[in-house]
Amino acid sequence: MKNMVQFQKGYSILEFMKDYGSEEQCRQTLFQWRWPQGYICPECGGTRYCTLKARALYQCNHCHHQQSLISGTIFAATKLPLTVWFLAIYLLTQAKTGLSALALHRQLGIGYNASWSLKHKLMQVMKERDDSLLLNGVVQLDDVYWGGENHDDKRGRGSPNKTPFVAAISVNDEGYPVYMNMNVINGFRSSDIKRWAQKHLSPDSHVVSDGLACFAAVTTHGCQHTSIVTGGGPASVTHAEFTWVNTMIGNVKNAMTGAYHAINHKHLPRYLAEFCYRFNRRFELGSMMPRFGYVAARTPPMPMRLLKLAELQG
Ligand SMILES: [Zn+2]
Repeated sequence: MKNMVQFQKGYSILEFMKDYGSEEQCRQTLFQWRWPQGYICPECGGTRYCTLKARALYQCNHCHHQQSLISGTIFAATKLPLTVWFLAIYLLTQAKTGLSALALHRQLGIGYNASWSLKHKLMQVMKERDDSLLLNGVVQLDDVYWGGENHDDKRGRGSPNKTPFVAAISVNDEGYPVYMNMNVINGFRSSDIKRWAQKHLSPDSHVVSDGLACFAAVTTHGCQHTSIVTGGGPASVTHAEFTWVNTMIGNVKNAMTGAYHAINHKHLPRYLAEFCYRFNRRFELGSMMPRFGYVAARTPPMPMRLLKLAELQG
């Protein structure tokens, strides 16, 4: 059987260049992403406007409010041409593995600081989009730590070099994965899992986890919970109930280690979101640009000082 992901009709770089090769094409596309029903003034709701200063600004005919195409979006205040942004979106959404800020810096011919901020803004879009997705059906759940690998002690609590995160995969009736979600949490206490479940699980889902006590807290959100006591140790990962969640944890860890020299723990949530976003849209390579763009035009600006802050958790 052909691999459905590998053999789907993709979106070639030639097609991309035909669609988004010029600044004017990108400008028109972003206008469509932002105002699919036509221009709307954020002040008065007016729909008639004129463009000022070589089309850099849109002015409402009714209240004269002015705004630029990129203000209020993730593209706000950028000095980069839209063609660079669009190419970065293309490269990042079509990549099989992670694409580092260093790689983007080389491929896009922009400075490293600019590529770092570009990459983190695009990952932020992915994170905001995937955070709005609720997993449902049968959901395999596992506790994971990033950093400080120690195979003898899976839980490895208390190490300052380890960042805890929840890995969750919904599987369909045939047992194949549908969506995955990986979110950094404070720790593996019932209160942490309760908060996580409220944000990321549909109340009608059926959670399968190992025997770690805190996972039972998903029932406070209405979910069913089956705990499978594995006895711990490396052998526990071979349990069929956890096949997909363990496979994906391995894949994501390997991909992150391969693509990134070092990941600052405070930015881990965005890196995890990057992998989840691509995995969750692995059958949609052809429509990635407009899907991503629609969300990007609705993601609030992220100035550098916000990008550098530690992520909110959950
Ligand atoms: Zn107006």
